[in-house]
Amino acid sequence: MPQPVRLRPEIASLPPYRQGRQADPEAFKLSSNENPFDPLPAVVEVLRDSLQVNRYPDAAAVELREVLARRFGVTADEVHVGSGSVAILSQLFLAAAQPGDEIVYAWRSFEAYPGLVTVAGATSVQVPNRADGGHDLDAMASAITERTRIVVVCTPNNPTGEIVTTHEFESFMAKVPEDVLVLLDEAYVEFVTDPDAVNGESLLERHPNLVVLRTFSKAYGLAGLRVGYAIGPSYVLDAARSTAIPLSVTGIAQIAAIESLKHEDELFERVGRITRLRDQLRQALLDQGWDVPRAQGNFLWLPTGEHTAHAAQVFEAAGLIVRAFAPEGLRISVGEAASVDKLLGAAAELVRVV
Ligand code: PMP
Repeated sequence: MPQPVRLRPEIASLPPYRQGRQADPEAFKLSSNENPFDPLPAVVEVLRDSLQVNRYPDAAAVELREVLARRFGVTADEVHVGSGSVAILSQLFLAAAQPGDEIVYAWRSFEAYPGLVTVAGATSVQVPNRADGGHDLDAMASAITERTRIVVVCTPNNPTGEIVTTHEFESFMAKVPEDVLVLLDEAYVEFVTDPDAVNGESLLERHPNLVVLRTFSKAYGLAGLRVGYAIGPSYVLDAARSTAIPLSVTGIAQIAAIESLKHEDELFERVGRITRLRDQLRQALLDQGWDVPRAQGNFLWLPTGEHTAHAAQVFEAAGLIVRAFAPEGLRISVGEAASVDKLLGAAAELVRVV
């Protein structure tokens, strides 16, 4: 077929976002850091009663923003809701960066960052992680130039699982010019058990250039409904509201998020089960001889290096879909308890090769 339409060249060559492949429907899907638990019965019940889909949703998500504002002790203007926190990342990139501007982030980190930067017409500045998989915040601060408009800090870092400490983050913020927006991507914050880890909530008052990003996709188990939020200065979030595609947060997503916030005890009890399993799995992998970095999300990083593609196949043959980041390693979500034996069996087989 001829291709006469003129596309932006950087978009024509940009691959779409990819998910873990699931050829076998019986396999455990441990490739997207999802929550293995079914939705809470209370959430299912409100959703069943809320299927009036002939009407548009509340474009401003007022009720959900008010509930979140109360929870975090901020005003509703200081909360923004998007169709997943990935949508808010995109909105803020578009709001703050123009073609030629730079967005600094650690690498490896969340796979969506490079594509979203390109879509915004901006330039990615990727700062290699430390050997332990953590952010090299000194190098990230040094990478800031006159053209830098945004720095993204992802903690716990997807895919390595390592956190940024409060102390590290505060010394980093002291070096960042106030006109540079810092996005603290805390998609996995509810799984953090290390008391030294930074938690954006408590820092917002001190830093007028800080926005904290959270999601209902992970700990709250609503990945399929697409809803995330940001907390930060209202004028910055107003700009995100302006670049957002109107009405993209559905009514059922808003209702499910509000209901979930009423049942956090139950949800966080599940989060506790996931983090305990994570810690047991990490210990078992260390015992097998793997060098697994400190895991503070709902996933583990297995440094399979040049054997990554083969290792992913071994896991697949064992009935586990994991995410391969060749040539560095595999990211494995902490999933159903029934997946554990298969996971450890495949890892034990591989550790001899890697
Ligand atoms: N940030 C990070 C670090 C993530 O890993 C993810 C999801 N994989 C997101 C943001 C986006 O999550 P969502 O759009 O589902 O809220």
